[in-house]
Amino acid sequence: MAAIIELENISKHYSPTIIGVDDVSVTVEDGEFVTLLGPSGCGKSTLLRMIGGFEEPTGGAIRLAGKDVTWDPPYKREVNMVFQDYALFPHMTVGQNVAYGLKTLKLNRAEVADRVKDALSLVGLYDKVDQRPQQLSGGQRQRIALARAIVRRPKVLLLDEPLSALDAKLREQMQIELKHLHEKVGITFIMVTHDQTEALVMSDRVVVMERGKIAQQGKPQDLYDHPASPYVANFIGTTTFLPGKVSKCTGGKVTVATGGAMFEAETDHSYSPGKVVTVGLRPEKVRFLAEGETAANTITGKIAEVIYYGLGLRIAVTLSDGATVYADMLLPDRLSHSKLPEIGTPTRIAIEPHNVFVFEGNVAP
Ligand code: ADP
Ligand code: MG
Repeated sequence: MAAIIELENISKHYSPTIIGVDDVSVTVEDGEFVTLLGPSGCGKSTLLRMIGGFEEPTGGAIRLAGKDVTWDPPYKREVNMVFQDYALFPHMTVGQNVAYGLKTLKLNRAEVADRVKDALSLVGLYDKVDQRPQQLSGGQRQRIALARAIVRRPKVLLLDEPLSALDAKLREQMQIELKHLHEKVGITFIMVTHDQTEALVMSDRVVVMERGKIAQQGKPQDLYDHPASPYVANFIGTTTFLPGKVSKCTGGKVTVATGGAMFEAETDHSYSPGKVVTVGLRPEKVRFLAEGETAANTITGKIAEVIYYGLGLRIAVTLSDGATVYADMLLPDRLSHSKLPEIGTPTRIAIEPHNVFVFEGNVAP
């Protein structure tokens, strides 16, 4: 695959103290779906706007299909942006709104009509061509905004929180639709979101940002299973953190003592004994042991809280030192346990060594 976007040491310092983006280098492959993920204020929109040409970088270079576009205005870039509020014109029909995206291309009427039809068909709304935006639902308006952006056939589509105005149910549905649209049109999508589930569901690759910099980038599953830092482990999925010290480390295995339990973990680092580390545990990877069952990394504690969330139960277990570990009990698992967990009862939980994260230092976020 060829690179379509290359960001080389891109920075945007709004002022000496307000740093939007700080020395970011990313390459996006042609046809990829890449998501910029991070909390509010970490620089996602600033980075996206620089790719679109709506913001000038204070350092670095941007190449589009091999050509330096760092100083080109938006209309000179084969890139199009979908804005969060859709910005549809209320006095125009759906068809006219989509055709508006073609204004600067100087096409004849038949070509415009063809392209509008193609774009609206792609989002499944050609039958609404003569209606006005206010006659449509929020999800339909979002699709019209998408049609208007793809009608120009840009090389890259930029989407800044495109689904944030929709309610939860519709947003889930649109995540899948947008992913399918990406597969159908075959152009590169770069999307911004602060919603980790959205990023995992939709993207080929996720770039996690932290205070203007890249914290980690990779395929959704790699980020989920191998977060490089507590920041990433905390932002993608849920993680319980426990401070500890290395008691031994040999042959790819490290043993960590925390106040309430010992943990064995797989590692490719070599830690010296006594080293301060932080253990990270995902609730869905911690399981409840049956009576008499033995397992690596058995933790004993007491049930402190039971949180019901439909698909299962999330259970807070208090260890002997007062620390809390969260463990999920999913429905099938729950059925095999005769008794529902009761607050105050002793319990035994376990996690497999390859599922235990170990981070250097006392670094719980
Ligand atoms: P995100 O999209 O991740 O929420 P932004 O890119 O909007 O983050 O903002 C990154 C940082 O840059 C924030 O601290 C924000 O306040 C600042 N910032 C964004 N736009 C401007 C601007 N036009 N002028 C000054 N500071 C800005
Ligand atoms: Mg933003």
